[in-house]
Amino acid sequence: MLEVGRTGVLSALGAAFLGAALFAQVPADEDVETHVAAARAAAGLDFRNTFINLCLPPAGRGGAGAARGTAPPGRGASVTPDRATWYAPPFKVFDNLYWLGTRQHSSWALQTSGGIVILDTNFAWATEPEIVEGLGKLGLKSGDIKFVVISHAHGDHDQGAAELQKRFGAKVVMGAPDWDATLQRPASAAGGVPTKDIPVGPDGYTLTLGDTAITIIPTPGHTPGTLSFVFPVKHEGQTLMVAYSGGTLTGAFGTNAARWDEYINSQRKIAKAAAEAGATVILSNHSEYDQAYTKARLIAAPRQLGEDHPFVVGADAVQRYFTVMAECAAASKLRAGAI
Ligand SMILES: [Zn+2]
Repeated sequence: MLEVGRTGVLSALGAAFLGAALFAQVPADEDVETHVAAARAAAGLDFRNTFINLCLPPAGRGGAGAARGTAPPGRGASVTPDRATWYAPPFKVFDNLYWLGTRQHSSWALQTSGGIVILDTNFAWATEPEIVEGLGKLGLKSGDIKFVVISHAHGDHDQGAAELQKRFGAKVVMGAPDWDATLQRPASAAGGVPTKDIPVGPDGYTLTLGDTAITIIPTPGHTPGTLSFVFPVKHEGQTLMVAYSGGTLTGAFGTNAARWDEYINSQRKIAKAAAEAGATVILSNHSEYDQAYTKARLIAAPRQLGEDHPFVVGADAVQRYFTVMAECAAASKLRAGAI
């Protein structure tokens, strides 16, 4: 049709307005469901807790706490909680990677030819029983700790940093914005306050110790200075690449669209780095997300035909993990009305 009468134009405009109105109002719920469905599919049975904690609105989580089995003890407390609620023995996970966690929170020791790098430290009360004694039980020396890399400055991951720095001369690595937050803590803060060593800016940082290089990737979102890592481990003579997710929850973003977008972009960034490196292992600093405590105990168990090392999930699953995070954040952003 070359000619459109006035009525026709008005009708077309009316339809356009109606269409715009429908587009603005109706698909919002559908969009949330689309993102949730994408996250659910990506999670499969592998990453159920990540999906539940990030994707479901708080009222819908229901069994998430039950799924975890135990509530995380004593957040921020300087008093040691009942050992029966948290203690776990240390485990050798790969030839040069050791798990030093409590049942809830993980610290990792990466052994290099130049000494040990500790990734995340747990609460202050866990430093002695889990990190120092844990290394000893595994035949390693705490005096060999050269670096402590903190994924983000929350007490359940960084309270041990100051003590490891003071006792063993370890250098502490943290995202620059999280250093700023840390240095504002009072000296009486649980675990004390570390002296500023190495801040990681927006361009990231490669930490090299001996024969091992850790690619440190800023993934702001959970905190402004959250860091994630990609690094090699040795397993039965082969090199495997690990992707380490440094911060998970998105609870406090509210209607701040920029914070949601920053978080989502960060997941895409670490996913890309993981893909380029060929990462087949996904690690977290919370056992509820990567099943570290359960998997660590399974390492020694006999494997059935077709079963791999429990921490080797494959490149596809590593990507799916970050898809869960990004898609859940996209759903939660819409749900929060942060547009
Ligand atoms: Zn945190």
